[in-house]
Amino acid sequence: MNKDQIKTPPAVEQRTIRVPSSLTVRELASLMQVSPIDVIKQLMSNGIMATINQQIDFDTAAIVASDMGFEVLPEAPSEPAPATAPAAGAPARDRFIADEDPSKLKPRPSVVAVLGHVDHGKTTLLDRIRATNVTAEEAGGITQHIGAYQVTVGGRKITFLDTPGHQAFTAMRARGAQVTDLVILVVAADDGVMPQTREAIEHARAAQVPILVALNKIDKSNANPDRVKQQLADVGLLVEEWGGDVICVPVSAKMQTGIDELLENIFLVTDVADLRANPDRPAQGTVIESTMDERQGAKVTLLVQNGTLHVGDIVVIGTHFGKVRAMFDDRGNRIKQAGPSTPVAILGFPVVPLAGERFEVVVSEHVARETVNARLAAERAADKQQRRTVSLEEVFSRMQSGETQEVNIVLKADVQGSIEPIVNSVCELGSQECKVRFLRQGTGNITESDVMLAVASSAIVIGFNVSVDPAAQRLAEAEGVDIRLYNVIYRLVEDLDKALKGRLEPAYQEVVTGHAEVRAVFKISRRGNVAGAYVLDGQLTRNSPARLLRNGEKVYDGKIASLRRFTEDVAEVNAGYECGIALEDFQDYQVGDIIEGYKMERVS
Ligand code: GDP
Repeated sequence: MNKDQIKTPPAVEQRTIRVPSSLTVRELASLMQVSPIDVIKQLMSNGIMATINQQIDFDTAAIVASDMGFEVLPEAPSEPAPATAPAAGAPARDRFIADEDPSKLKPRPSVVAVLGHVDHGKTTLLDRIRATNVTAEEAGGITQHIGAYQVTVGGRKITFLDTPGHQAFTAMRARGAQVTDLVILVVAADDGVMPQTREAIEHARAAQVPILVALNKIDKSNANPDRVKQQLADVGLLVEEWGGDVICVPVSAKMQTGIDELLENIFLVTDVADLRANPDRPAQGTVIESTMDERQGAKVTLLVQNGTLHVGDIVVIGTHFGKVRAMFDDRGNRIKQAGPSTPVAILGFPVVPLAGERFEVVVSEHVARETVNARLAAERAADKQQRRTVSLEEVFSRMQSGETQEVNIVLKADVQGSIEPIVNSVCELGSQECKVRFLRQGTGNITESDVMLAVASSAIVIGFNVSVDPAAQRLAEAEGVDIRLYNVIYRLVEDLDKALKGRLEPAYQEVVTGHAEVRAVFKISRRGNVAGAYVLDGQLTRNSPARLLRNGEKVYDGKIASLRRFTEDVAEVNAGYECGIALEDFQDYQVGDIIEGYKMERVS
């Protein structure tokens, strides 16, 4: 469900809302599908000054809601909260237990994800951890892959998500799920910090999850731990032995060395967070993975994050519900109940839900049906709105309504040298009320991975002198992510400044119109050189902006000065045709160059 629904006007047929004994202003607004600002105004007119995250009791909520034309009923016991996406960045544990009575909270195992560059040993490490921690009688048993498993170390449990890599981690975060308490960053000691290592660090930071480094492959003769520590320091992870606070454990997944120490250190990091949940309530949590079995139907792995799940419980996920017919642990044993931080596979759900969706147990099928119907209605209402999850304009309006005090940015620039001045000038714009946070600062085109990070963290993507990969463009359009491209720093800074102050003008977005490949270079003495080219896709138009790419690198950015078919000047040339192209003030064409035509379109 999309945050936009907050702004949707209430549907006439849905004027009754069920309200719990206490809720935040934001939650009340979302139940009524109105802007939190309107709720704050209504509270003010009743003499109550409240902020968006303030808790209000049932009576106050009832007065305000009825003033706004709603009939208010008390919430049925243990009816789940609406499936609104949580605020970006809020730590997982806070979300589920925020409303719990602290005296009911008991310690729970930590949930750990393993991230790192490809081939650095994530899968091997996860396999070893699992293999070394099953007891003798279990070792012979069938080991099930259900997407997560638990091990016991010194009498205490740890839960591992066993789909390594940040794609799975990000996909879950993109659906608003935060299940991880700790990230183990696997870095191969012979290879060091690589692009996906950096990405993993960015994802862990964006999710505000602590990092523990597993320095893997120390058995290799070319392992160079000090070099890796230096590289980690360069990306802001200073290890303990160098005076920092990041624990780094040398391991060899292959030789099975250092693994016990790694596991013990997990407690050192996670004990600080004092992870707790209330086991004595209906279960809530997140879908880890799900598969369709021809014989058994949907098999869904759930991570219980609060409460206890029982066989026979009625589970609501998104807009479906089902009864838990049978439940299995990660070793394939049938179990009857599962408490906080336990991964379980359940049978009995009618569909295959997506990883990262939230689940909740409700008291009866009746409540389940009502919840699902309310969500379907809310989804229909949200669908009517244009989907723009994160635009600069929207970030600003969220800031004004007090919904967020942070602007998250993914920045891509052509060269490293451009990054620092941009970051410095943009950070200066931040104020006490509003922080600007760079989730990624990198060089190169905007890729799908950049957009994914933005989706997961409600961030804006800013490109400086770079273009957008077609796959990234498609994803951004599908997810409603704002990509803003600039080629002068002051414009970028000016736009952000305006957004922060609420004076933003319409945004323009670059749209690539087509590509042509240079197949010959003609020297025409009077006019200089002309490229004989073949239009590969789309269309090229005379006088429109274009750039010339050589081996993927941009060597020219300007416009198409002339376009010819045979001897005739033409206004445009479509895919599949040959033509002569002259770029303005450019002569140096080479066979194999790509000419990319584009236009700037208004997006708001
Ligand atoms: P992933 O892509 O990060 O999941 O990496 P894998 O676990 O698939 O490992 C990649 C390769 O590195 C495999 O050939 C492993 O056998 C090897 N490998 C993993 N850990 C170690 C280690 O500690 N030492 C050595 N020498 N090789 C390792």
